[in-house]
Amino acid sequence: MDARGCLLPQPWMAEPATRQVLAVLAAGGGRARFVGGMVRDALLGRPISDIDLATDLEPGRAMALLAAAGIRVIPTGLAHGTVTAVVGGRHFEITTLRRDVETDGRRAVVAYTDDWAEDARRRDFTINAFFADGDGTFYDPTGGADDLVLRRVRFVGDPDQRIGEDVLRLLRYYRMLARLGIHGVDEASRAACRRNAGRLPTLSGERVRGEIERILAVPDPRPVMAMMAEDGILPPILPMASAFHRLARLVLLEPAADWLRRLACLVEGGVPAAEDAARRLRLSRHETQRLGMLAGPWAGPDLLVTDPQATDLPAPGRPLRDRLYAVGEERLRDRALLAAAAGLDEDGRVRDILAAVAVTERPVFPLKGRDLVAMGAPRGERVGQVLAAVEAWWAAGDYAPDRAACLGEATLHLCGQP
Ligand code: ATP
Ligand code: MG
Repeated sequence: MDARGCLLPQPWMAEPATRQVLAVLAAGGGRARFVGGMVRDALLGRPISDIDLATDLEPGRAMALLAAAGIRVIPTGLAHGTVTAVVGGRHFEITTLRRDVETDGRRAVVAYTDDWAEDARRRDFTINAFFADGDGTFYDPTGGADDLVLRRVRFVGDPDQRIGEDVLRLLRYYRMLARLGIHGVDEASRAACRRNAGRLPTLSGERVRGEIERILAVPDPRPVMAMMAEDGILPPILPMASAFHRLARLVLLEPAADWLRRLACLVEGGVPAAEDAARRLRLSRHETQRLGMLAGPWAGPDLLVTDPQATDLPAPGRPLRDRLYAVGEERLRDRALLAAAAGLDEDGRVRDILAAVAVTERPVFPLKGRDLVAMGAPRGERVGQVLAAVEAWWAAGDYAPDRAACLGEATLHLCGQP
């Protein structure tokens, strides 16, 4: 395999942990190279997180060598040739060169090889099939550097066949575009994605979620979402995620990316549709709850679920502080953003709310049950009752009374006076 060039020096290459892992594998007669997406990111000058290595040593041998050098090593995916070495807080995912002998669209039966080009051929895209030595010399067996220059995502080999082997690659295609920004498009790759979208429902919810989350978390997912809409990618997996015009507005308003809020914004059909989306993506209980709370409609009596009396976004001043205390900053900000994204901000109220929430802290009630117990209150129901009464008094005073004043009020209650 001929070298294609040399990476600019990268801080993670010089780290003692990296040097040690490479040295241990080399001393055992093997070779290890940086591989895949991390080399792509290094070529783009982007930061990397964990380090992926490819090696011509069999996984058991790599494990034994690392363990003998006192390195902690975890058999993360031993059956598929992957072990993880942990050195100085850094994770090195080390995968033996392999080819996929058999694929059922999900899981591959693998065979190890010592042929680097063969390992490159089983990878998804040319821009994900680079190798680099410890000194930065890099190898490009599939011509990915030319694609990377043009920000072009191209399948390695025949796109239909590669998608047939693992349909997840279809979603990874759009994720890579979301990352790189859409500049050049490889039409053969894109056409294959469009043709194969009907196979997406065979993927597990967890795998779909991983990709959708990462697509929606990029700073600006609008171009790739527009492309996915055009190519009919979402209907087979998330038919309710169709309000692209709303997402476009949200992206311009929000202070930072939040994939779940963006998903809620895309969903047509209110709470039932949001729950369906959560089921399809196998969201956690906490995420499912949040998605349900974020779901439309964003105006009218459902505006804030905990406050059925609320028929509109709160007015500035006291009503806003009351709502802030009742539901918290995050929820108030989410609802305001979603209302604005839905075009419900004719009077500029949402902007006022966002500005106010940005500079107003949620009031913190200064007493806890243990304060009352310390004052001699008997443990039990009475403590909760008095606490609630003092909290209501404090809120009625516009959250102004301080801890001493609240303790005074609690004393009156405990003495049975109010
Ligand atoms: P990210 O920067 O998000 O981690 P990545 O390209 O590194 O993106 P990973 O999921 O970490 O993606 O995978 C590491 C590498 O493994 C990829 O760059 C690619 O070479 C290969 N790979 C991952 N998933 C697949 C797949 N489904 N089919 C073929 N190759 C894959
Ligand atoms: Mg990666």
